[in-house]
Amino acid sequence: MLDIEVKENFDIKNLTSLKIGGKIKKAYFPKTIEEFAEIYNYEPEAKVYGNLSNTLVSSNGYDGAVIITTGINEIIINGSKIYTGCGVKGPKLAQTAAKNGLSGFEFMIGFPGSLGGNVFMNASAHGQCISDKLIKVKCFSREKGLFELSKDEMLFSYRTSVCQKEPIIILGAEFELTPQNAEEIQAKMDENLGFRKSHQPSLALPNCGSVFRNPEGNSAGRLLESAGAKKLAAGGVHVWENHANFIINSKSGSSLDVLELMYKMYECVKEKFGIELTPEVRFLGGNNLREVELCKILNIK
Ligand SMILES: Cc1cc2nc3c(=O)[nH]c(=O)nc-3n(C[C@H](O)[C@H](O)[C@H](O)COP(=O)(O)OP(=O)(O)OC[C@H]3O[C@@H](n4cnc5c(N)ncnc54)[C@H](O)[C@@H]3O)c2cc1C
Repeated sequence: MLDIEVKENFDIKNLTSLKIGGKIKKAYFPKTIEEFAEIYNYEPEAKVYGNLSNTLVSSNGYDGAVIITTGINEIIINGSKIYTGCGVKGPKLAQTAAKNGLSGFEFMIGFPGSLGGNVFMNASAHGQCISDKLIKVKCFSREKGLFELSKDEMLFSYRTSVCQKEPIIILGAEFELTPQNAEEIQAKMDENLGFRKSHQPSLALPNCGSVFRNPEGNSAGRLLESAGAKKLAAGGVHVWENHANFIINSKSGSSLDVLELMYKMYECVKEKFGIELTPEVRFLGGNNLREVELCKILNIK
């Protein structure tokens, strides 16, 4: 018997950056690695999420267990080394490093991913990447329990890591940052935030960041724009008028609206350029047959 609180039929919508999603059969919110291990051993099929800023959750909900890691939020600084729990959000990490005169996390100031999500996705922006300064990752798997992986063993490349190929959970990570004047770091973060204001939607417009990955040597946004995607909409969601690789949930849209719109975006680029875009956004669901079908066509994980 598990002695940790579980929230049954948990309404997840407001935790997602898209503000879409139905009820989750069981949701857990561990605050420590020990609690996480206890839950995961009890719920071996549980799906693990951070800040749900790259995840489309089905409006029809999910019939399984979900573990949300945002309570695992320890930060330990030792000289230029920094250890952070998987639930810490990028902006908090960027600000903490800046206050301590440590450079390397400035890119995380403007988007809401957790450390775990950022490592899983190998998040990047403004010429910096989560793997740049990473030394090692504290991991968990059913087979091995707790173990560590070095940067090389994480097999990082564009928007991917070994955790997308094997069932490995990220519980924390250690980085070696570069000492730098705190004002210079702050200036770089201000510049990054300024760039975002003009190029990306803020969270006031519910969205999940870039919808599709950039094909090698190309830009998904440019391809979508040239193919006329800025005019596209489905139900309560539409393509952002300032950048064609973002979907905005403007009128209480559903997950099916998002998937139908992604399909239209995918089709218009395929038709015009013969290029099949690959989604960056991930999906949690399974109760709606049309959604399952669209995920298969679009190759959404
Ligand atoms: C406004 C906005 C701007 C964005 N800008 C950028 C950007 O510039 N660059 C960029 O790279 N991304 C960007 N994103 C996308 C998103 O923030 C990143 O992909 C981020 O890394 C996702 O983190 P998360 O905690 O929200 O992940 P979630 O959505 O919670 O999860 C994403 C995936 O990671 C897995 N995962 C999460 N935590 C763990 C863990 N601890 N262990 C194992 N697997 C885990 C989940 O199972 C899921 O498959 C943006 C998003 C928004 C909304």
